[in-house]
Amino acid sequence: MSKTILLKNRPAGKPASTDFEIVEQETPVPREGEILLKSLYISVDPYLRGRMRNEKSYIPPFEINQPVESMVVAEVMESKNSNFRKGEFVSGMLKWKELQISHGTGLNRVDLDLAPLPAFLGVLGLTGLTAYLGLEKIGKLKAGETLVVSGAAGAVGSIVGQIGKIKGCMVVGIAGSDEKVDHIENKFGFDRGINYNTTEDMAGAIRQICTDGVDVYFDNVGGEILDAVLQNINKDARIINCGAISLYNETEVPTGPRPEGILIKNTALMQGFLVRDHVKDFGKALQQLAAWLQDGSLEYDETIVDGFEKLPEAFIGLFEGRNVGKMVVKV
Ligand code: NAP
Repeated sequence: MSKTILLKNRPAGKPASTDFEIVEQETPVPREGEILLKSLYISVDPYLRGRMRNEKSYIPPFEINQPVESMVVAEVMESKNSNFRKGEFVSGMLKWKELQISHGTGLNRVDLDLAPLPAFLGVLGLTGLTAYLGLEKIGKLKAGETLVVSGAAGAVGSIVGQIGKIKGCMVVGIAGSDEKVDHIENKFGFDRGINYNTTEDMAGAIRQICTDGVDVYFDNVGGEILDAVLQNINKDARIINCGAISLYNETEVPTGPRPEGILIKNTALMQGFLVRDHVKDFGKALQQLAAWLQDGSLEYDETIVDGFEKLPEAFIGLFEGRNVGKMVVKV
């Protein structure tokens, strides 16, 4: 027998552990063309919250009483598919199952010479790609510009800020605690951090620090923090709408100040970004990320939660800021 985690209810507001159910199922046996995979590390991501709503989006919603899925690093336990050998490590979009069958479609081999296994869910996975490609495709950062990033101590944000420093920019990170601010300034070399939980006037704090205004804003959180950054943008600023975690659990999305006047006045660009639209650029981006890791110009954090059963708890923890860097569950 092996364990699977199902979505039991569509969460109302913030997800709760009762929205998930752990069930035991018979261990599957691979047939011709199939492989048996054992999950080793499973990624929890804020966007999974969107898939828990019964809404049309860029990716279909999860079904009730069916397994949740996300990116997983797994080991091939048995292979009846000539493309895979027993003992190989792969990553791919897989179910929240300890053991599962795959045809091998969409799986990538993991190169352990580059980094340890969980890094392929973070800096060398969709996280690193989102940071790199969001900045490249929309941010178009130039040396000497001012970059602001929110969710700055999180998985994507901490990579974004470091790329900003590599590119020679002034980098300001917005995060939820003094410890996180300290961490991004002292470990990752951000020029400054702002704790949004203890700062009453966010727009004023950004103005005080970004004395030359904001050229690029990499937005991971949306809502009031976006409103505050918009008040400080420069002419031709670029705003990358990567995520809006501050709104993901809202049952009614609050309205804020209208941004059109600010965008017109500054001839600014505000554009949504989906990493999945840039698959053709993944190879080149991963090469650059791996090169930076190897020459020491890029570092990364992981918050590794131990135990398959902790997946729901780790996922919920993203909405409470319980992670620094990439949140991953070790099975
Ligand atoms: P993450 O930043 O590692 O984790 C989420 C963080 O969000 C938490 O640690 C918490 O940090 C912060 N947070 C939670 N609730 C918040 C709130 N109400 N207001 C402000 N901050 C809040 O997650 P990630 O994987 O790197 O993802 C970051 C964002 O990018 C998410 O919005 C995600 O959906 C998005 N994303 C988009 C794409 C794409 O293709 N568009 C791909 C990957 C990720 P604090 O302690 O600082 O609050």
